Amino acid sequence: MEIKQLIVGPLLTNCYILISDEEAVVIDPGAGLKKILKEIEGKKLNYIILTHYHWDHTLGAQKLKEKTGAKILIHKGEKDFIKFQPDQFLDGGEEIRVGNEYLKIIHTPGHTKGSICILGENFIFTGDTIFEDGVGRTDLPGGSEEDLKKSLEKLEKIIKKGMKIYPGHGESFEK
Ligand SMILES: [Zn+2]
Repeated sequence: MEIKQLIVGPLLTNCYILISDEEAVVIDPGAGLKKILKEIEGKKLNYIILTHYHWDHTLGAQKLKEKTGAKILIHKGEKDFIKFQPDQFLDGGEEIRVGNEYLKIIHTPGHTKGSICILGENFIFTGDTIFEDGVGRTDLPGGSEEDLKKSLEKLEKIIKKGMKIYPGHGESFEK
């Protein structure tokens, strides 16, 4: 899997582009439509996966969908917080195919009700749940400190040593 990172929008959000066998997935296109389209030129964009509802992660999703026909996926816990219509609500546990590889959706509420992490072979995208220097805030609508604590315990078991972690803001790092 080829992974490209773009830093987009005023809150310097990480937008990730994953490519495998001429197919692509975009995670959190908060902005940067032109740059994203350039990166996926010639590939088939199947899915736009949103780690949570916050605008800095989701604002460019609708336009990217209109340009490419990709499906927008977001966890059902974000239903009451979004102003756009996704193509599919996730429950967690789904396996999303990109080319000849798979990504697994893990529900990790806390930062928001429907926050997810996206797990690959030896890497994970953690949205605003885990950063290199800490964890996500829980004081915004849909946030819960108690849920975050449980989610971190869940991730502790999933994230193996040496695994690469790609957060929603800041540098990627290894466990
Ligand atoms: Zn956020």
